[in-house]
Amino acid sequence: MRPEENAERGGEALLFDAALQAIPFGFCVWAPDFTLVMWNQHYLDIYGFSAKAIRRGMSLYEVVALSSALGNHQGTDPKSFYEAYSAELLSNRGGMRTVNLEIAAGNRTLETAHIYAPGLGWVVTHEDVTEEIARSDMASERKRELERQYGLLDAAINNISQGLSMFDADFRLMTCNAEFISLYELPPELARPGTAFGDILDFRLKSKKHALIDREAYMAERRRIMDGGKFVREVIKMADGSLVSLRHQPLKGGGVVTTHEDITDQLTAEARMHHMATHDALTDLPNRGLFREELEAALKHDDKGRHPALLVVNLDHFKAINDSDGHATGDTVLRNVAERLTETVDGRGFAARLGGDEFGVLLPTAAVPHEAADTARVIAKALAEPISLGDRSLRLTCSIGIAVAPGDGQTADALMNNADLALLKAKSEGRGTYHFYEAGMDATLQRRRTLEAGLREAIEGEGLSVVFQPIVELDGNRIVAVEALARWEHPELGPIAPAEFIPIAEETGLIHALGAWVLGAATQAAALWPNRVGVAVNLSPIQFKNPDLVGVIEAALAEAGIGAGRLELEITESLLLENSSANLDLLGALRGLGVRIAMDDFGTGYSSLSYLRAFPFDKIKIDRSFMTDVATKSESRAILRAMIGLGKSLSMTTVAEGVETEDQLAVVRAEGATQVQGYYFSPPVGAEKIAAMIEARHYGEAFKGRDGW
Ligand code: C2E
Ligand code: CA
Ligand code: CA
Repeated sequence: MRPEENAERGGEALLFDAALQAIPFGFCVWAPDFTLVMWNQHYLDIYGFSAKAIRRGMSLYEVVALSSALGNHQGTDPKSFYEAYSAELLSNRGGMRTVNLEIAAGNRTLETAHIYAPGLGWVVTHEDVTEEIARSDMASERKRELERQYGLLDAAINNISQGLSMFDADFRLMTCNAEFISLYELPPELARPGTAFGDILDFRLKSKKHALIDREAYMAERRRIMDGGKFVREVIKMADGSLVSLRHQPLKGGGVVTTHEDITDQLTAEARMHHMATHDALTDLPNRGLFREELEAALKHDDKGRHPALLVVNLDHFKAINDSDGHATGDTVLRNVAERLTETVDGRGFAARLGGDEFGVLLPTAAVPHEAADTARVIAKALAEPISLGDRSLRLTCSIGIAVAPGDGQTADALMNNADLALLKAKSEGRGTYHFYEAGMDATLQRRRTLEAGLREAIEGEGLSVVFQPIVELDGNRIVAVEALARWEHPELGPIAPAEFIPIAEETGLIHALGAWVLGAATQAAALWPNRVGVAVNLSPIQFKNPDLVGVIEAALAEAGIGAGRLELEITESLLLENSSANLDLLGALRGLGVRIAMDDFGTGYSSLSYLRAFPFDKIKIDRSFMTDVATKSESRAILRAMIGLGKSLSMTTVAEGVETEDQLAVVRAEGATQVQGYYFSPPVGAEKIAAMIEARHYGEAFKGRDGW
């Protein structure tokens, strides 16, 4: 009803109209003949009608057409909407309230409710429920989302392999999973939401599923974690011995989520792995890695006046034990050494196996170097005790290198390196001893390494050569033999003396290849000389370790095509020092080939005389050290005389080495030596030159100006 029309009907009508307008939704009444009888402003607003467009008595069709033109009744044309709507109104005359939803302009949802009042017609209310529906949609959407998340959470909680619990701010259980229940063997009633943490704890304390602790202190600690708001990890040891790892994540609004994991097996496995990674499997001593760590730690705590000292202990000739007695014996020896070392340094240091037959001892705070030396002596003594191998026992010695911080190095690397250098020095001093690091050892070792690598290349390539020094028979002044001497010129360092490279070749085993090469070069050179001239080759004692030495020599002779009688082998006393029957047998076998054997450097050893008895040498070469003042000192001459006399009486040829002057030659000749060798006649020379010397009819021509000898 339009307001102006209502105004025509007096006070009561005004009141009615005010009530009509006050209704918070659209309102209209259709008379039974489908004409509009009454309406309010909300009705106009909801459909977007202007006040002028709507009149009392308008037909339903007119209103629907107008409404459709304004964008309402979406999805249907006015005619079909009118037909459907009027049919609906007609069918709804039973007094029941029916509710419909329709879509109006602006995509709004309208709810219409109809009640048929006989005599009046259809009273219809119209309400815009767009927002209401949106709100309820949202609510149900949110509910669905929560349900989905809860489902996920539930699945997550029950599918993780760890126990999980969630307590609220009052320490009441919100939720937990099956793993949690089984980990602590909780009865079902203690797994229910709402259970107090204290009750669960009490149960666990009773069932030993918790460490024996002060309950109140533990509860307070839990409270602290929850209030702390930060992620916390802890491992608790249960009274039954198992270990449980806990990870607490406090929640924003109070409460805490905790995962529980039994890590007993994992920890023991880890501990085992860690031990394996840091210890030597054979001796169970700490390994090099752990030793280094300890050394580094000790260096960090270096007190004033008390410095870490490092001892590197190496067994002497361990390789020989391993080679001759087998690896099982070698292992027994190493285990034994490890035990003794541990006992010896127990309390004062830290022992480790650095690798092979090398052990390390760290004295974290050696007050004075003496302490290191004392320890070295104690270790040497302990290791020198015989090792029992069942039916027999074995004696060992060791060499020890010592480096003391900070003087001998301030880093673990420097100390270990320098202790190694000191060890090499101890070894070179005859083993069975210890040596402190000294400045300069570095350079020595560096040179040694360079030489070792260079020598290897020289032997494989064309780096070596041989020079020849004549040995002259005094009776007739003829060259009767020539000594072959190895020469090596290092590409960078120049000529290296045999006194330097022969020991290196011996220590590295390169001597076998080097010796065979010299032997080949010497015999091949000799093949070009007259038959009466022999060739002398030096043999190292190490070469006797090759059981096929005889074969090597036979092959050289055969290849050069010279008779065994032309070859002289020079050996030194040190070969007989070991007094092994194997060496004597080999010497005998060589002799059997028809080769002559000479004892070189006679008189320089300790028991030269006794060795003369051990093997029937063909020749003794009196060391050149006896020649020095033989012409000026009567004592020296007396010794020379004795040695020559000894040789003679044993029917051995005597050679005086190192004859440099005419005076020396005169003495040697007068005392009756058989042969001489020395710079007076010639230094060692190249193959061509020696061949020329031998060829020369008069030696005087070859030995420039030394006519008449
Ligand atoms: P050696 O066997 O006693 O050789 C003699 C050494 O004395 C040679 O030194 C030679 O040059 C030197 N010499 C000779 N006459 C005189 C002299 O009148 N006065 C002085 N002061 N020295 C003289 P070289 O060649 O340096 O060899 C030194 C040592 O190296 C040799 O001593 C020998 O033991 C060893 N050596 C050299 N070549 C070989 C080799 O092919 N095999 C083995 N195993 N050892 C070798
Ligand atoms: Ca010699
Ligand atoms: Ca000699």
